[in-house]
Amino acid sequence: AKAGGRGRAEVFDQGLREELRQRAVVESGLAAALSADELELHYQPIVCVDTGEVEGYEALLRWRRDDALIPPDSFIPIAEESELICEVDAWVLQRAAQQLALWTRDWHRPDLVMAVNVSGRHAARARVIADVADAAQAAGIDPARLVLEVTETAMVDDPAAVVHLSELRSRGFAISLDDFGTGYSSLARLEQLPLDILKVDRKFLDPDVPSAAKLLPLIVHAGHAFGLTVVAEGVEHEHQLATLRILGCESAQGYHLGRPVRATDVRPATAGRQPT
Ligand code: C2E
Ligand code: CA
Ligand code: CA
Ligand code: CA
Repeated sequence: AKAGGRGRAEVFDQGLREELRQRAVVESGLAAALSADELELHYQPIVCVDTGEVEGYEALLRWRRDDALIPPDSFIPIAEESELICEVDAWVLQRAAQQLALWTRDWHRPDLVMAVNVSGRHAARARVIADVADAAQAAGIDPARLVLEVTETAMVDDPAAVVHLSELRSRGFAISLDDFGTGYSSLARLEQLPLDILKVDRKFLDPDVPSAAKLLPLIVHAGHAFGLTVVAEGVEHEHQLATLRILGCESAQGYHLGRPVRATDVRPATAGRQPT
């Protein structure tokens, strides 16, 4: 900024000030939102590719503020820069587990699962073990029905995350590798990480992404070769579902199968085939 002289320095300072203001707003606002009931979870179905049956849901966070619904990409990355993300994740775990318990009771679906996103910073803290275990216990949910979605970057950035997730997995919780195929994914790592599920990033279903169609079968097969269940994200059209069926991909998620909605707007997922 200095090289450009005074004018540019001022522009830089303004940008910086704006960024700091934003961050402060998010950090203080989010902490308050946690206690003021401004956070809410939306639930998106995860569907069995073969039968169309809803197997479970992914809990996705939103921040309701002055009638506006703020998407997670606008505040999660900032929350992830401080320990605040641990509080946010813990809240999500509690809420999502409670919701699963309610649906289990109302719909007689003791097999339904709930997937929750766990941020890398949270996974790297020892408290993640108690945060997850307490949520399941408070809701009376069997650990196997709670799926912890973690990105590969999160696991690789801090070896402690792998230790904690291994412990959680040995307690029966399911671990899912989120956004697989983005970032520094490596097939060799699938063997070393404590995993049950491989979640293929939605770019591999995107017809506009070069080589996506060629890579999708390889990723599904790699997941199976390592003994993982494979879930595909971003199913927006029926023909993608047909492709996944041919590839033997077990589960799918996407706007075509159901958008993320508030708990009150989720249609009861009773056992049996769902109309898609
Ligand atoms: P993600 O874990 O990869 O979640 C899937 C995202 O894809 C969601 O965006 C979902 O709404 C969107 N999506 C689902 N189906 C489709 C589709 O067919 N097409 C397209 N284009 N998109 C689809 P969302 O809800 O905005 O969440 C964005 C990200 O924010 C999530 O990505 C996750 O990384 C993060 N996030 C969300 N909730 C939480 C949370 O409770 N805790 C943490 N730590 N992160 C969260
Ligand atoms: Ca996810
Ligand atoms: Ca994902
Ligand atoms: Ca993501």
